[in-house]
Amino acid sequence: MSLCAQCARVQRTCCQYTDVLVTDGDILRIREYTDQPDFYENRIPVDPSYLDQNDDPNWNAYTVLPDKSRRVLKQQENRDCIFLTEQGCVLPLEARPLVCRLYPIYFTESGLDGLAEGCPPQLQTPGKPLLDAVGVDIVSAERWRHLLYHELRTGSVLYENRHYLRPAG
Ligand code: SF4
Ligand code: SF4
Repeated sequence: MSLCAQCARVQRTCCQYTDVLVTDGDILRIREYTDQPDFYENRIPVDPSYLDQNDDPNWNAYTVLPDKSRRVLKQQENRDCIFLTEQGCVLPLEARPLVCRLYPIYFTESGLDGLAEGCPPQLQTPGKPLLDAVGVDIVSAERWRHLLYHELRTGSVLYENRHYLRPAG
């Protein structure tokens, strides 16, 4: 069983109670995949740490609106992400918000910046890197970080392979 599946049995995962920020590109990709229009909203963070971004000086300017809300995925009544099911996330990797793809890597506009501490240490295999356990590789992570800041800075979308789209014809 994957680390993330085990994690879901013992603790609140990164897909629960989390404000998942979405860029214009995230919205376009999720719409392409789901054909749903209504999966995001502007919401003021309950957790003030979302606004404490001293190590990434432009982050709040890119993401916080004048009323202090941020554009995030909607949640279910229990505060699980709207796309979380008992089988995990319904979105394929290339349609997931970029911040989801990057977790558990910390990042700033300057680069990748260490690992978050939210993944349960007691379930991790000694000697096995956390990123291997959750299926994230550094080259992809750096590409997603670049994409994320490009979309935040410019409000435009950079297209990469979207294998969930069926070929025309
Ligand atoms: S990435 Fe970490 S916190 Fe999220 S489900 Fe996987 S193990 Fe749990
Ligand atoms: S979009 Fe998927 S990966 Fe991201 S928080 Fe929701 S369920 Fe988790």
